[in-house]
Amino acid sequence: MIYLKSFILLGLSLNLWAAPIKIVTTLPVLKNITEEIGGDKVSVQSLADPGQDAHFVQPKPTFMKKLREAKMFIEVGLDLELWGQKIVDSAGNPNVQRGKPGRVFASAGVSTLETPAILSREYGDVHPYGNPHIWLDPVLVKKMAKNICNGLVAVDLPNKAFYEANLKIFESKIDKALVIWEKKAKSIAQKKLVTYHRSWSYFARRFGFDVLEQIEVKPGIPPTPKHRDEIMALIKDAGVKTILMELYYDKTAPEYIAKRTGVKIVQVPIDVGAIPEAMDYFSLITYILDKLAA
Ligand SMILES: [Zn+2]
Repeated sequence: MIYLKSFILLGLSLNLWAAPIKIVTTLPVLKNITEEIGGDKVSVQSLADPGQDAHFVQPKPTFMKKLREAKMFIEVGLDLELWGQKIVDSAGNPNVQRGKPGRVFASAGVSTLETPAILSREYGDVHPYGNPHIWLDPVLVKKMAKNICNGLVAVDLPNKAFYEANLKIFESKIDKALVIWEKKAKSIAQKKLVTYHRSWSYFARRFGFDVLEQIEVKPGIPPTPKHRDEIMALIKDAGVKTILMELYYDKTAPEYIAKRTGVKIVQVPIDVGAIPEAMDYFSLITYILDKLAA
């Protein structure tokens, strides 16, 4: 009887101390959201550095190794991570193949902006399925968190209630923060922006900014002198005061424009962990709005 009891106790404790689920995400922002939902039931690694352009991450052998051991792979999708499928193919892990519960596209079900009529990369366009930079809208992040929660439930049903409770907490944290963010955005008088890349469409829609033009000719295509001159004319005509750009783009063209038009360059991270002031999703959005307000 004593033996039986200790056997049962051992069984229980093994269950309680189950190893966390190994998850790999493409981007740090996805790692951050997954940890909010998964808590101590998950062990998450992101592949890209927060300071990298998410479109053009160079796959490393360590990526394949991480993915080989993972039970779940989470990406934004919409072909944002042009390198994601390559890693899945090389890792050969059956858990994370397309269609398996361990393959999660955080953008599933989000209606995209700027969806081209014809799917094409003919002009080097890196947004062939519409704009994939959805995480800069906190309301869409709630949808991403829901997709991640559903993925976690699919691979770990016994902890369904735990994940769903964490999702509710995360959603209400976003709702509370959104009130403050919207107030902050309202206080910013200069709403007209020129941006470097089309990373800001969802952010602008949520917070009432107006993105007039991009410094890139097309997503992924660097500026030409002709395009640069057209932007300078536009800045003067429309009274644009701000160029908003990511940390990782070349500042040559923006600085050229700023020098001749007096426009201010606001350079910010768009992923979690690129700078000490933006180590989670909430501080990231706060930081971006604060820089625009400064
Ligand atoms: Zn992009």
